[in-house]
Amino acid sequence: MPAKTGAEYKRRLKEAGNNVYIHGERVDDPTEHPAFKNVIDSMAALYDRQFDKPSKMLYQSPTTNEQVGMTFKQPKTLEDLVARREAIQEWARISGGMMGRSPDYLNAEVMAMGVANDLFAEDDPMFAENARNYYEYARENDISLTHTLIHPQVNRAKAQSEQKDANVALHLKEKQKDGIIVDGVRLLATQGGITDEILVFPSTVKPAGESDDPYSLAFVVPNNTPGLKFLSRESFDQNKSTWDHPLSSRFEEGDAIVHFDNVFVPWEKVFVCGNSSICNRTFLETNAVKHMSHQVIAKNVVKTEFILGTVLKLMDSIGIDKFQHVQDKGTEIMLNLETMKSHLFRAEQNAKLDKWGTITPDFEALNAARNWYPRIYPRMTEIIRILGASGLMGIPTEADFDHEEIGPILNRGLQAKNLEGYERVHLFRLAWDMTMSAFGNRQTHYEYYFFGDPIKMGMSYFDSFEKDQYKQYVDDFLAETKKNKNFAGV
Ligand SMILES: Cc1cc2nc3c(=O)[nH]c(=O)nc-3n(C[C@H](O)[C@H](O)[C@H](O)COP(=O)(O)OP(=O)(O)OC[C@H]3O[C@@H](n4cnc5c(N)ncnc54)[C@H](O)[C@@H]3O)c2cc1C
Repeated sequence: MPAKTGAEYKRRLKEAGNNVYIHGERVDDPTEHPAFKNVIDSMAALYDRQFDKPSKMLYQSPTTNEQVGMTFKQPKTLEDLVARREAIQEWARISGGMMGRSPDYLNAEVMAMGVANDLFAEDDPMFAENARNYYEYARENDISLTHTLIHPQVNRAKAQSEQKDANVALHLKEKQKDGIIVDGVRLLATQGGITDEILVFPSTVKPAGESDDPYSLAFVVPNNTPGLKFLSRESFDQNKSTWDHPLSSRFEEGDAIVHFDNVFVPWEKVFVCGNSSICNRTFLETNAVKHMSHQVIAKNVVKTEFILGTVLKLMDSIGIDKFQHVQDKGTEIMLNLETMKSHLFRAEQNAKLDKWGTITPDFEALNAARNWYPRIYPRMTEIIRILGASGLMGIPTEADFDHEEIGPILNRGLQAKNLEGYERVHLFRLAWDMTMSAFGNRQTHYEYYFFGDPIKMGMSYFDSFEKDQYKQYVDDFLAETKKNKNFAGV
């Protein structure tokens, strides 16, 4: 089965019978459940887009010659890399970048680890073979994935092995002839309830010591594996109309705690087994972080375009666009957009072939962009809040506008410079849902913590930044001034 349609995506979810819980009950069929059905429809629309625009979204599989998803492609030339990015942005435009976990994100990880897998072979060549095979399987079957990287927030001052109950976090319980038994809890699988399989990988920013080897695992299992449960947080999709909740009624991806109750993982689905050293190096040494960052920055360019468009329309609508501080705030977002686009351009133009024959974007540009976006995203939502002011609370629903008596009052009373009240409130509801609804607030939280704790990311950025050349520059400058004690500026 090559690239799949939306109908096929939904059929698989229906048949899988994944163990998903929400609001205190087990979900029978996520495709019909009010917490999941709308976002499942949006995911289905992404998969259908593959067939609406096949030349952009699909390519010929190197092994089966079937048409498979472009975002699985191992880029071997700059043209391939750009084509991948265009497919990523095609998908991102459907949600204005509000679906952070459209399938391309983890397709990038699976591709990178499937190709650059030598690291996994350090323990056993079988693990590298497994990564290679999984890439092919995921690509040829268009598998949708969630992932989980983080141990539960019990006591962050201690290693997992030192916790008061050292068996809470997911750990290796037993090695058997055919596979391993794992048990415990992991956080936080976005789209946990609405995907085919789950990747369990180490954190990208929390290195583990040897005492945490039993917690240092990487594997993949289908979401309906016996013993696996997805414990979803409350849904932010309130099943209101798309007019009332333009974003949360369509793109609420959901986040789930994942419980593994003595889950059996066959050896062929294991990539790392009880080795903290390999886990700590996984994302960097497979280049996965580079390809995943490329996807994220491409998506964030689209998201920033969507935010900018919303802000500009909001300013126009209430006639504040000529005020100095308002323009300055619009400029902040424009500068963010242009800077993100420049990072992306530099990352692609400086891409190099790695030793596995993959054209790999320049990580210096991507690393700067991925460290910067969590710092600017909360400010962009603050700008919307500041400029929208009371308009973000004066947002009656569509039903109010439809009401015979109060509808006309609202339509007149909430009119804008060039818009009827109905049109203005529609726009302001979008701005509210982007930033202030439960959905909008989650977006801000999501962007802040997306790649891991931004403070820790900033620390490792500082540590790994090549600083000597800049210090040397100043040393040379100072040396010059020592030689010319009487330098008079001529
Ligand atoms: C909306 C959302 C969706 C997510 N989706 C996923 C997903 O799909 N898959 C997945 O695996 N993860 C997901 N995550 C989890 C995300 O990766 C983590 O939130 C992120 O890595 C931070 O880890 P933490 O939440 O455990 O924070 P913690 O590590 O518990 O940090 C909490 C606070 O304590 C501080 N702190 C902790 N330890 C230290 C220390 N040693 N020194 C100094 N300060 C410290 C941090 O700076 C932070 O302010 C998601 C998170 C959010 C918010």
